Amino acid sequence: MTNSKWRHDPIQAIRDTQHFGEEGGVVPVIDVASTSTFMHPEDMEKAFHGEIHGCYLYSRHSNPSVVMLGQKLAALEGMEAALGVASGMAAVHAAITQLLPQGGHIVSSRTVYGGTYALFNNILPRYGIEVTLVDMDDLAQVERAITPRTKILYTETMSNPVLRIADLPGLSALCRKRNLKLVVDNTFTPLVVSPARYGADVIIHSCTKYISGASDLIGGAIVSSQEFIDSLIDVNTGMVMLTGPVMDPRVAHELYHRLDHLPIRMEAHSRSAAFMAKGMRDAGIPVAYPGLPEHPDHALLKSLMNPGFGFGGMMAVDCRTPERAVKLAKLLQDRKFGLYAVSLGFSRTLMSCSSVTTSSEIPPEEQEKMHLSPGLLRLSIGFTGNDGVMLERFLSCYREV
Ligand code: PLP
Repeated sequence: MTNSKWRHDPIQAIRDTQHFGEEGGVVPVIDVASTSTFMHPEDMEKAFHGEIHGCYLYSRHSNPSVVMLGQKLAALEGMEAALGVASGMAAVHAAITQLLPQGGHIVSSRTVYGGTYALFNNILPRYGIEVTLVDMDDLAQVERAITPRTKILYTETMSNPVLRIADLPGLSALCRKRNLKLVVDNTFTPLVVSPARYGADVIIHSCTKYISGASDLIGGAIVSSQEFIDSLIDVNTGMVMLTGPVMDPRVAHELYHRLDHLPIRMEAHSRSAAFMAKGMRDAGIPVAYPGLPEHPDHALLKSLMNPGFGFGGMMAVDCRTPERAVKLAKLLQDRKFGLYAVSLGFSRTLMSCSSVTTSSEIPPEEQEKMHLSPGLLRLSIGFTGNDGVMLERFLSCYREV
């Protein structure tokens, strides 16, 4: 389901969301207060009972710096509201548990981040919540997995680490038909794809990745309707308010500024990744990159993406075995191609062998079902340095392993 009325321009919306410092400074101040004074003490009780809105109570509930970041994140995704939280995992957990009653059911793509898989498999069952994993590209299979207890379809726009693309219009149409919420983790593709355009109800980000861009902090975001964001901080029933994974205002302030240059960074990541992927493919290396016409979801991503940001910065090289992947990564690190580190979205290239690291929570038989090769080397392509030199370094290391 595509929203034909979609007129959102994320670059302009981020730019036009502007706040001033207290004395007119061009950047807002960081408001670190954990609690706020009520000049009219009788209002405090009203605020607790939701009878008055827009005042700050206590920073686990709301904080001016986190609220300002929320407005910029909402602008990024073209949704009404957003809430910064402590990490991407906090965002996944809070959003899902807020939406689901005890005993609820999720139908999820089987190609999800290893931490999300472990949350689904090991933690949610303690709340009586069950998750069925399906091949999201098979809409008939998705529909067959829906039960009367199902409340959520869960997917990553571009999946970690196998880089499959979700058919967001198809999934969204199914959600409307069966009265479900579509929850989309857009961590790999901020700006590249706007899931709200296709009817996503809740968008998750690990802000630790591209939104930060500097690999120097941990943060997460939940982007949705104002009603849903308000529900997360409800004093009686809000999952963020009552379990407490709030974002530190200093982190919110940092991320606030970085959103202004996210468009330039995403474009640079995509440009370098496309150059690298073409060069690797032409050299006969088994590389998966959604921007290559050979990728199974190339046409789908092309039909979903916003113009101007390319196909993203993530790619994967199949080295067949973890030993070979690690050997290659070591050489690449020694020759200053990139860093062997988990995470992504950094200005420099990061590499990791997913099957034994960030997807190691997923058992081998499930890894096989999601077509995760044991030797997959995931690359988050940075934009520093000269692309030609970097490609040469990669090719020479690859020839040696
Ligand atoms: N979602 C995706 C797609 C991820 O790749 C990650 C982490 O790698 C997360 C969520 C969790 O984010 P965080 O590490 O910020 O908790």
